[in-house]
Amino acid sequence: MFILNAVSRNYGSIPAVRDVSCEITTDGFVFIMGPSGSGKSTLLRLLSFVEAPDQGTVRLELGGLLYDTAGSTRPWPNLTCVFQRQFLWPHLTLRDNITLPLRTSGALNIEQRLARVIDLFDMSAFVNRYPNEVSGGQAQRAALARALVLDPALILIDEAYGGLDLEQQRILNDHFLRLRQSGVGLIVVTHALDLAQAQADQVIVVEDGQIAEVGTRSVFENPTSNFLRKVLLHEAGLKP
Ligand code: ADP
Ligand code: MG
Repeated sequence: MFILNAVSRNYGSIPAVRDVSCEITTDGFVFIMGPSGSGKSTLLRLLSFVEAPDQGTVRLELGGLLYDTAGSTRPWPNLTCVFQRQFLWPHLTLRDNITLPLRTSGALNIEQRLARVIDLFDMSAFVNRYPNEVSGGQAQRAALARALVLDPALILIDEAYGGLDLEQQRILNDHFLRLRQSGVGLIVVTHALDLAQAQADQVIVVEDGQIAEVGTRSVFENPTSNFLRKVLLHEAGLKP
């Protein structure tokens, strides 16, 4: 569980996250939604502990341990992130990209762990290729596999579908569901309304650096935020 207390983060004079207090579940499927520029990526960076708030505190209880942005311990790699514009090392095959964190952390059973994520993400046909030899969707799966290979309890993913076509998005959705079934907590920034409506344990709508709406997926039935209302109206208009 994340507990945010009066969290603000500014970039120069731009307030990206403004006075946010909320609780975010870490053992479910959480969807962070909202318009472009509303502060979703900033919020995710704060949750990942790669950035600290200017004001307020981010506290996290994960795997029986407590973390606080004001403290010195960090939840990695029990918490891992897949950020927008994730890069894979271009001079390494996908296989070597995935095993690198295992080797640097001195992990045991490297081949076994590798085999498991290759299987999970259906990567055996292309895992020996270099990043520039695979599609965006395949590279995205490799980035997810690299995040997963250290057995995190929680994965944060920003704009999971960036650059993916509908078929690749569908495949990625399947992988998300498999991750959930294996007990991993997921917090994703996404516009994937269908998936959120079907699977979200918690929905967080960010508008203008603040939390406009938070709740279970029942928020889709009677949304109060401008963003969700607009998105759902648009969706309804597309249906015959
Ligand atoms: P979203 O992910 O919802 O599109 P962001 O969190 O990326 O929103 O950005 C929120 C606001 O903060 C925007 O106004 C953006 O321009 C600004 N911002 C984000 N990151 C930076 C940065 N590194 N430097 C300056 N401004 C930033
Ligand atoms: Mg963003």
